[in-house]
Amino acid sequence: MSAPASTRSKLIKGMTGDWEVVIGLEVHAQVSSRAKLFSGAATEFGGAPNSHVSLVDAAMPGMLPVINKECVAQAIRTGLGLNAKINLKSVFDRKNYFYPDLPQGYQISQYKEPIVGEGIVDVDLPDGESVAIGVERLHLEQDAGKSLHDQHPSMSYVDLNRSGVALMEIVSKPDLRSSAEAMAYLAKLRAILRYLGTCDGDMEKGSLRADVNVSVRKPGAPLGTRCEIKNVNSIRFVGQAVEVEARRQIEIIEDGGKIDQETRLYDPNKNETPLRSKEEAHDYRYFPDPDLLPLEFTQGYVDELKSKLPELPDDKQARFITAFGLSPYDASVLVAERESAEFFETVTLGLTTSPKTKSGGQAELVAKVGMAVDSKVTRADGREDTKRDPKLAANWVINELFCRLNKEGRDIAASPVSAAQLGAILDLMADGTISGKIAKDLFEIVWTEGGDPRDIVEARGMKQVTDLGAIEKVVDEIIAQNPDKVEQARAKPQLIGWFVGQAMKSSGGKANPQAVNDLIKRKLGV
Ligand code: ADP
Ligand code: MG
Repeated sequence: MSAPASTRSKLIKGMTGDWEVVIGLEVHAQVSSRAKLFSGAATEFGGAPNSHVSLVDAAMPGMLPVINKECVAQAIRTGLGLNAKINLKSVFDRKNYFYPDLPQGYQISQYKEPIVGEGIVDVDLPDGESVAIGVERLHLEQDAGKSLHDQHPSMSYVDLNRSGVALMEIVSKPDLRSSAEAMAYLAKLRAILRYLGTCDGDMEKGSLRADVNVSVRKPGAPLGTRCEIKNVNSIRFVGQAVEVEARRQIEIIEDGGKIDQETRLYDPNKNETPLRSKEEAHDYRYFPDPDLLPLEFTQGYVDELKSKLPELPDDKQARFITAFGLSPYDASVLVAERESAEFFETVTLGLTTSPKTKSGGQAELVAKVGMAVDSKVTRADGREDTKRDPKLAANWVINELFCRLNKEGRDIAASPVSAAQLGAILDLMADGTISGKIAKDLFEIVWTEGGDPRDIVEARGMKQVTDLGAIEKVVDEIIAQNPDKVEQARAKPQLIGWFVGQAMKSSGGKANPQAVNDLIKRKLGV
């Protein structure tokens, strides 16, 4: 439920009082497709310079662009994922400007009539609040090439591999009110794109980058003049750029100056937003590209694409809450990445394929998860019959697995502990074979050495001891050696915890804690 902006804003203190920051993001997302937007050249990343360039991409005279149907489908899927209006008719325009890496002398983009109109992204904030952020539009456009300035002492080279690759520009409304909101919005957008498979979201490779528009105002005042920070390439940098840019603007205004609408950059090393260019308002002389007809498709086509969309993060989160009884927070953590959600579900439902299996395995897993979900037994209260306790599984995935992965900077796809192995550890705990403490040791062994958890427990004698014959002797000794503690414990029964601790220690943590507790109570007569 979205709160009004005034209560959401993290106000920034200035010399003249509180300031509110207003942010709008223009996100460029590279469309996942094998070929470019208007040519058959490959979009593959990292090829030798100019190895993926068709005559169209090089703008040879007389070449004609031909729209790539898959890129159009990807844009429609994305629009549907953003709960947005899909425009059955849209128009490609030429945006004219000169740049060495733009051989056409114009970029084919969409201006007044984009393929996707207004939409909404629901964003969960770290404090548990949820805000609805408006999307203004999504349009398709060509990426430019790249100038290489470091290959020759006196010349620059041009690499056209990216020239003509399809981008989706997703423009938000100026609805964001803090750096945290801007980061959460971009993270959510990235998750949606990755679930949909319409953009890989890889910010390091430049598949997703954001232009961050920032302005400041006194609460309740009209919107201030914005500056645009171009090409920010990590979620963390978006947050930092908003913070420094807002402070820069506040200082200028409080010094009696005014903000000029400018294009700036973010320099993470200096944590500054230096000026990129003092551009005069560009006149791109947009006009409809005469080589391309308006793009038209039917509502039936949109409906067909819609019927095949995968389950998206919001729906998955809702299902994890009703079907598995997870808390909204745990569910949101698990669904943030599709792979994490699948890992959790594989463990909980006891599926046999683990997300560890690469390539074909991933598709197979998705198919299996889908199958398991289709054939699931849903009870009247909406709960699903699960193989393992979902809350315990969520706990272990979030607390043990994620922490361990973070510590080593690994992705869940590269987890050394598979879903099947984690499932086996949970089973050993559930049937009392091992205690929770031993389970953590076992997890560590599986993480570093691999292997079947059941075999490891067997081979290393890690089973929980419920036969207390061996422990009884130890307990007797502890009692004999500590008459003072015995005295105290009889007077104050909470103090038997000390005896339980000693006994557990002497068993190497393998004794069943409840059984030890009972034994000690009996021995002390409390
Ligand atoms: P243009 O098309 O000239 O670049 P838009 O109106 O499309 O301008 O806005 C571009 C981006 O800037 C959008 O994401 C929008 O939300 C954001 N924006 C517009 N006005 C402001 C403002 N005053 N403060 C912060 N962001 C803004
Ligand atoms: Mg713009």
